[in-house]
Amino acid sequence: MEPLRVLELYSGIGGMHFALKDCTVPAQVVAAVDINTTANQIYQHNFPGTPLWSKSIEGIPLEDFNQLSIDVILMSPPCQPFTRLGLKRDVVDQRTKSFLYVLDLLPKLSSPPRYILLENVKGFEESCARNQLVKVLTECGYHFKELMVSPTSVGLPNSRLRYYLMARRSEEGFSAVTHSKLLETFPVHEDKDLLEPSAALCPHHTEAVDGPECAQFLYKLETRAEQQRKQQQNSDPSITQIQDFLDPDVDLNVEQYLLQPKTLLRYAPILDIVHPSSRRSICFTKGYGRYVEGTGSVLLSSTEAEMESVFRGLEEHSEEEKLRRLQMLQLRYFTPREVANLMGFPQGFAFPDDVPVKQRYKVLGNSLNVVVVSKLLQFLLSEEHLGL
Ligand code: SAH
Repeated sequence: MEPLRVLELYSGIGGMHFALKDCTVPAQVVAAVDINTTANQIYQHNFPGTPLWSKSIEGIPLEDFNQLSIDVILMSPPCQPFTRLGLKRDVVDQRTKSFLYVLDLLPKLSSPPRYILLENVKGFEESCARNQLVKVLTECGYHFKELMVSPTSVGLPNSRLRYYLMARRSEEGFSAVTHSKLLETFPVHEDKDLLEPSAALCPHHTEAVDGPECAQFLYKLETRAEQQRKQQQNSDPSITQIQDFLDPDVDLNVEQYLLQPKTLLRYAPILDIVHPSSRRSICFTKGYGRYVEGTGSVLLSSTEAEMESVFRGLEEHSEEEKLRRLQMLQLRYFTPREVANLMGFPQGFAFPDDVPVKQRYKVLGNSLNVVVVSKLLQFLLSEEHLGL
């Protein structure tokens, strides 16, 4: 079988490309498009042989796309227009313009792609942009399937609930058997995969919790239900422990990842703290390492200090004593490598040396879970599922 010709729009650091490599279907990315120079530098570093168009999508004429003879489009359009932090401006947000351009192009392509996979944040499912997408797909004769998946459902200890749409242009579409196979692959236990861990405490819990504004779920003020839910997650044997994703060499430069005294004193109560033995962590967002509220979990790296004994009665102590106690926990950020591991990036993924740590967190925060997408692509692209 000829490799499928893939167009990767909004390619970022290549999460989609890694997922594609990971699934068994022969495919080749014939063009990747993104405007972010740092992300592009990282993409090129990892995929030096892939043509990378460093320009805005809406500036690319139809003919250029036609020349690629595309079989597949993979895309993660900017998600800010669909989050509360991004004001939910949806199709009137300038950042949606390029996506609307893609929707406009789709029916005009000389040969529309057989397959499309789109990834976005929770919130996209109730947007006008989604409705427009569905309308165009239907008019162009696609069958499609929409689902919300978090990496916890494939055994990874990280929450990153995302919207996915898989579309296929074929007679058969998606059958009931495919549907049940999908459910088998992405089992949804209770509702923990449907909502981010902290979502229940957000004012509007149907929204993505990617922003600091959603961080009112204070560690010490967390409800009993929340505590129980965390405990439950930590005892779910189907999810791998955090320790399997840690960088064995981190000790060499751990200093740079330890939380600073100022941060500890100010934000300790609202940190989401996990242990190496935990089986959960919250979604890493692009502000990780810069802002602490709701941007991702931190790791308790001390083997002796106990969280409960440090936090119990903490407020009654002087600043100095508080700090001394908190420092016993040796709380640190996950390194970018570790965040990448939790997001399913393979060991072969690498950053060019000159990309600063904060930029690494930023591009990772914009990216996706490679294992989840790889499994979805396997469904979408493999012929054995066609017509089931
Ligand atoms: N899936 C990607 C990340 C997608 S985030 C990954 O794995 O890294 C959305 C990306 O769209 C960002 O990298 C951003 O730079 C890019 N982008 C936003 N508007 C764009 C436009 N008009 N044209 C091209 N790329 C754009």
